[in-house]
Amino acid sequence: RSRVLSGIQPTAGSFHLGNYLGAVRQWVALQETHDAFYMVVDLHAITIAQDPAELRANTRLAAAQLLAAGLDPDRCTLFVQSHVPEHAQLGWVMNCLTGFGEASRMTQFKDKSAKQGADRTTVGLFTYPVLQVADILLYQANAVPVGEDQRQHIELTRDLAERFNGRYGDTFTVPAPYILKETAKIYDLQDPAVKMSKSASMPKGLINLLDEPKVSAKKIKSAVTDTDTVIRFDPEKKPGVSNLLTIYSTLTGTGIAELEQKYEGKGYGALKTDLAEVMVEWVTPFRARTQEYLDDPETLDAVLAKGAEKARAVAAETLARAYDKVGFLPAK
Ligand code: ATP
Ligand code: MG
Repeated sequence: RSRVLSGIQPTAGSFHLGNYLGAVRQWVALQETHDAFYMVVDLHAITIAQDPAELRANTRLAAAQLLAAGLDPDRCTLFVQSHVPEHAQLGWVMNCLTGFGEASRMTQFKDKSAKQGADRTTVGLFTYPVLQVADILLYQANAVPVGEDQRQHIELTRDLAERFNGRYGDTFTVPAPYILKETAKIYDLQDPAVKMSKSASMPKGLINLLDEPKVSAKKIKSAVTDTDTVIRFDPEKKPGVSNLLTIYSTLTGTGIAELEQKYEGKGYGALKTDLAEVMVEWVTPFRARTQEYLDDPETLDAVLAKGAEKARAVAAETLARAYDKVGFLPAK
């Protein structure tokens, strides 16, 4: 079986619609066909200051949402990144293989640090793409299901895997991105020029899956569209409407063309009202399932402990090989 690995940050509590449609939805599908490793990346979360109690709660919350979305611990390995110390260990090795200029070119870093200001930007944020490289290479993943915003980091992963293999001999699988075109980028509802983001979107532009369904419905209804009236998929000229069509199509499994036909001669109001309803129908059971997992933290923690054990078995083997190749003296 081909192997996939991916992660999601336990920041902000609730996942947003972009996380689900761009990433988590694919994770659920891939566990049926692949040897799948999925993690809650708490090491990445602290690149931006976190309240400790909140971070802990949000880590459980992220795991609960992943299970609610359909991950099955019998079909995939679900774990918390900090439970597997090999991530930080291989991360250091990868830091020492990465050029400063190379890291400086990462656009996610540039965007996030620009937003925060230089004083609040940590070195951790600067090197987080390199930690992500280690995350992926530790599991010898063949593919990495992510949204479009992560493409550059997967490229970096390929470069560093090849660099390491070239310098020290074949060690790491060179992974490929797995990005589904249709849902690669879900846009901010208020500013359809930018991606919906946990850390960057304003509340009105962001659909949090755990918000009151009524609140999400309202956000859909007040999504920015355009002054035209035709409901047509055209991301260039009609980014707002196209974004709504993508969301609608993916949540219901209805083709875009079919939707265009359905709404021929109808106004944006009709589209929004229907999509709001679709959204409410989808999030209502999702929220209930998430709450069920949260109500039973012992079971949740046991799932994560078992996942960490499975993950460590793989990660420890890869790290040992990498350490040996680099020339570290084995501890006797
Ligand atoms: P942040 O803005 O703080 O980086 P995020 O919204 O990007 O947060 P992450 O936890 O970094 O959330 O990303 C988890 C997964 O969700 C990644 O695979 C990422 O590519 C995907 N993703 C995030 N935002 C979107 C989006 N708007 N559309 C599609 N996929 C997305
Ligand atoms: Mg992100």
